[in-house]
Amino acid sequence: MTVPSATRRPAAGSAAPDHAPTAGRFTEVADGVHAYVQHDGGWCLNNAGLVVADGESLLIDTVATEARARALRERVLRRAGRPPRLLVNTHFHGDHTFGNFVFPEALVVGHERAREEAAAAGTHLTGLWPDVCWGDLEVVVPAVTYRDRMTLHVGAHEARLLHTGPAHTTGDTAVWLPGPRVVFAGDLVMSGVTPFCPMGSVSGSLAALARLRALDAVTVVPGHGPVGGPELLDANEGYLRRLQRLAAEGIAAGLTPLQTAREAGPGPYADLLDAERLVPNLHRAYAEALGAAPGDPLDIPALFREMSDHHGGLPACHA
Ligand SMILES: [Zn+2]
Repeated sequence: MTVPSATRRPAAGSAAPDHAPTAGRFTEVADGVHAYVQHDGGWCLNNAGLVVADGESLLIDTVATEARARALRERVLRRAGRPPRLLVNTHFHGDHTFGNFVFPEALVVGHERAREEAAAAGTHLTGLWPDVCWGDLEVVVPAVTYRDRMTLHVGAHEARLLHTGPAHTTGDTAVWLPGPRVVFAGDLVMSGVTPFCPMGSVSGSLAALARLRALDAVTVVPGHGPVGGPELLDANEGYLRRLQRLAAEGIAAGLTPLQTAREAGPGPYADLLDAERLVPNLHRAYAEALGAAPGDPLDIPALFREMSDHHGGLPACHA
């Protein structure tokens, strides 16, 4: 018997096609463990995660705009049956945190530095892309913070929060589920997207990748781009090692980070989205090569302007 398409309904929780332009798509990567991926992973199009077990749920990150956050909430309710009581922010960036406010039932958890950074940043990110329809955002910072590690229990699932030191920012958290061997890496890992570490550290990002590698995860949910396995760690590591090499060569040749970026170009990483990040990334690599400590503040607005000039205009943000 054929079912008329108008009456055919997707089963609850299935990965039904979703045509809303502001929505991502959930995929179940292990029993009760879901990755929410927003195509194409470029500027402000981040991933989130959801762990559902025994009537409990944990949300990992939210999204950048009010419309995207409301779409995420609707899909979370569809998967979990009720609002999550726990929400972890992997770091302070607005694409991962601005949607916190549409989950008022959730206790927001993050690294202590992520709370400070989120409070200091406010909605600053919206000013970088004034044409994006951000909605009526209300900044909600983590109410519970930790320093080194913390474990959350979601029904039978154990979710271990790991802080790796300055890497993508100074307050990054990876969420490790030792049962199904899934790690939600936040922006410590990008997939098909250029890594971005001017607010953290190149050497720290490499140390974070080594720490994630030691987990021996089967599934790696990156902060941006498609879900993968440990091979994602290799790609990120290769990019970061090239940054260090380029910085050492640039310094030896008396070139500025911008000159080095112009001369070297994206090289073998030309296929990654948002290649213009090479400029601010090189600034961080230079600073470290010249003795700055991981996470020492750089002038991020100035780096963003230089990156935009190098790119020939403001990079596209499709949030
Ligand atoms: Zn980020």
